[in-house]
Amino acid sequence: RSSARDTRETSPRKDDGPTHGVSEMIVGVLGGGQLGRMLCQAASKMAIKIMVLDPLENCPASALAYYHMVGSFDDSSMVQEFAKRCGVLTVEIEHVDVATLEMLEQQGVDCQPKASTIRIIQDKYLQKVHFSQHAIPLPEFMQIDDLEGAKRAGDLFGYPLMIKSKRLAYDGRGNAVANSEEELPSAVTALGGFDRGLYVEKWAPFVKELAVIVARGRDDSILCYPVVETIHRENICHIVKAPANVTWDIRNRATDVAYKAVSSLEGAGVFAVELFLTGDGQILLNEVAPRPHNSGHHTIESCYTSQYEQHLRAVAGLPLGDPSMKSPAAIMYNILGEDEGESGFVLAHQLIKRALSIPRATVHWYDKPEMRKQRKMGHVTIVGSSLGEVEEQLKAMLKEECSSYP
Ligand code: ATP
Ligand code: MG
Ligand code: MG
Repeated sequence: RSSARDTRETSPRKDDGPTHGVSEMIVGVLGGGQLGRMLCQAASKMAIKIMVLDPLENCPASALAYYHMVGSFDDSSMVQEFAKRCGVLTVEIEHVDVATLEMLEQQGVDCQPKASTIRIIQDKYLQKVHFSQHAIPLPEFMQIDDLEGAKRAGDLFGYPLMIKSKRLAYDGRGNAVANSEEELPSAVTALGGFDRGLYVEKWAPFVKELAVIVARGRDDSILCYPVVETIHRENICHIVKAPANVTWDIRNRATDVAYKAVSSLEGAGVFAVELFLTGDGQILLNEVAPRPHNSGHHTIESCYTSQYEQHLRAVAGLPLGDPSMKSPAAIMYNILGEDEGESGFVLAHQLIKRALSIPRATVHWYDKPEMRKQRKMGHVTIVGSSLGEVEEQLKAMLKEECSSYP
């Protein structure tokens, strides 16, 4: 029941024979969104073959993958069928059928990062428990099972209180803020009720959000990318500044927390560590993604080895590349859907036209079949000689935009 998109008579298998790429390993990626698409772009430089498993016939990675199997990464028989054809299995989304990955690992299938890592990360509560056991600093948190529990948490942590669903969260969908005890019921309802599996976090009074991409090779070597600042709009990553404009001490401590967090997880690949910087200089961990990440898009243009190439090198067992920046500064702007349908495309294309006239800007468009409000449709990265310079260029690009520069 796997309907393949391409017209090849036989589907590729790992026993197809040598591929003569930089690695002969066929890399299987669960998920075919924009991250999968950019992995394919990096793979093409080295003639590494990528297969993607994604339910959407025209998902962003589809046109660029060596082979696209149409099916759900949350469907056990699909994942098993897919795994037979790949030399190594990796992910571009953590919401995959992890029980099947664990079973496949038992049978000798190579998963990078390890299924144990995906299991910990895909449940944000479990993730928090794991990192607190490893002495990683993070906001206080607590599971809530009913309104009484939520009230107790509110008494303990105060308001505003961040309520999160444990599973299937992305782009802030799965977060709700209660500003007072009275708002608890509506916040819980907005998340689908206690049956969804909820927990609360103490409000992190951050002055900045930071992120670090950390790469681990199969030989357990670990390399960290420069610390960046992420700016969110309505819980969605919107702007990334690289490097973060913080003191040397803060950069060091952020990198240390990220290094320590990733060291506590198993398997090769790149990981993104999202952090809060508080007013009194504390670094707290928000969450970790076991894959390339929005905060690392800029690395395509600004670093010697992009996070996408690095992820492939890591999972294929190649030496890791240099994560340092080859340009002094970069800024990344996410093109989010401003409107549904055609008028959304018109707005995005006006922005793209302005971006194309900036000399050191690069436009990425994910070719998503449908435009929706707040959906990540593409991004623009501007590199330059200082943060001030690229910020000015971004401001100029956005000057006619309804969304003003924060
Ligand atoms: P992603 O798309 O990064 O996976 P997500 O849906 O998993 O997002 P989180 O990263 O948990 O959501 O939260 C999204 C944003 O909400 C954070 O980047 C931050 O701006 C804010 N936020 C999250 N937790 C807290 C907290 N405890 N206190 C204050 N703000 C928070
Ligand atoms: Mg998340
Ligand atoms: Mg997040």
